[in-house]
Formats: sequence, structure tokens, C-alpha cells
Amino acid sequence: MANDYVITPPAVSTVPVRGGGRFPVRRIYCVGRNYAEHAREMGHDPDKEPPFFFGKPADALVTNGADTPYPSLSSDLHHEIELVVALKAGGSDLTREQAEAAIFGYAAGIDLTRRDLQSEAKKLGRPWDMAKGFDHSAPIGEIVPAGGAALNRGFIRLSVNGELRQDGDLSQLLWAVPDAIAFLSGFVELKPGDLIFTGTPAGVSAVTHGDRLDGEIEGVGTVTTKIA
Ligand code: MN
Repeated sequence: MANDYVITPPAVSTVPVRGGGRFPVRRIYCVGRNYAEHAREMGHDPDKEPPFFFGKPADALVTNGADTPYPSLSSDLHHEIELVVALKAGGSDLTREQAEAAIFGYAAGIDLTRRDLQSEAKKLGRPWDMAKGFDHSAPIGEIVPAGGAALNRGFIRLSVNGELRQDGDLSQLLWAVPDAIAFLSGFVELKPGDLIFTGTPAGVSAVTHGDRLDGEIEGVGTVTTKIA
């Protein structure tokens, strides 16, 4: 039967999976200020905040080490290396155990941020969408199937042109992965295909045209892109 779409339907965004195949992406959620030192470097007291969330469009992903174009309307593009969780199951009001069981795998990702637009949005009480959810704002490495293993320690690092800028450990997460997933599932019903960027450690900084970003998470893998 012919479909009745009145335009060609948008393509599904996918992320390569180690060992073969592609993970189809439904939504991208991101956790804000999930490492104490990063919360402090952004001017906040991490002891006073429950986790909060924002989003990026699924087609903001940059895969396979492709170049990332420098975005429009910003002169302060920041890198944030993050552990990304890929879900194979979903639900609402998940328990910690259900959240852990919903994990398909992990990847290293970069939450690129137009920091100047974000600072202005914060000041004016406006949404972060244009600061966080712009085109090509989510470079990501391949997804590594988790095999049920919890991931609660291991280095998380990012270098720019070979110089180490971010150097944290997953044990520093304020909200561990299953807790963040469970908390998020209270706000929205999660579904298979959702990705969750779990926050960045301290050391975020500006990048410019020609910079090469190399992120690595112990036991997960790498993410690489060049700002073109
Ligand atoms: Mn982030």
C-alpha cells in the first residue's frame, strides 16, 4: 500500500554499534551539571540541585568521526565530553533496577554548546534550545553494547589538538546512570532508541576552526571530530 505522506519523511538518525549494526535514535536527552567541579566552574552549588534535563534533536548527531561545522551566531563554542547511554527499553517512573535493565549500551559523546547564547539565555530566563540543540551539536562515537555491566568508574577525558582539557572520572557523577535514567523517566516516558548525555566533568573551554577534539571514556571508547 502506498503511503500518504505529503512530503518525503525525514530520515532516522543512527549511531554505529561496535560489532556491527546501527542504533536508531528516537530522542536525545541531556543531564545538566552532573559533576560537582563543572557545576562550580559554571557558578552553581552542586549540593543544592536535583538533576535537570534538556534536549537536542536526534538529527544533531555527528557520527563516524565526521567534521563538525562551526555553528552560526556564536563566537564561544565549548566542548563537553559526556558518557552517553543508549536505551533498548523504556517506561515511566522506572526504578533504579528497571532503569539499569533498560540500557543497551554506552558511547562517548560531546555536548557542543554555544556558551555565549547559553549565558544570554540564562540571564534573560529564556530556553536553552538554541544554545544546546543546534545542528551538528552532538558528535558521538560508536555505541558499545553493555552486556548488563554497570558503568560507575573509569576515566572520562577530552583533548583539543592533543592537549588535555577535561580529565574526570565516572565515579564523580552526582547522579549515577541508573539514577539519572530513573529520575528522567518521571518527567517523560522513555522509549527504545533514546540517548541520554549524562553530563560533563570540569574543564570545558572554547574551540575554534581547525581544532581537533579527541574524547575517550575508559571501557567505552572514543569520539573524534574536527571543527571545520
Ligand atoms: Mn552537557
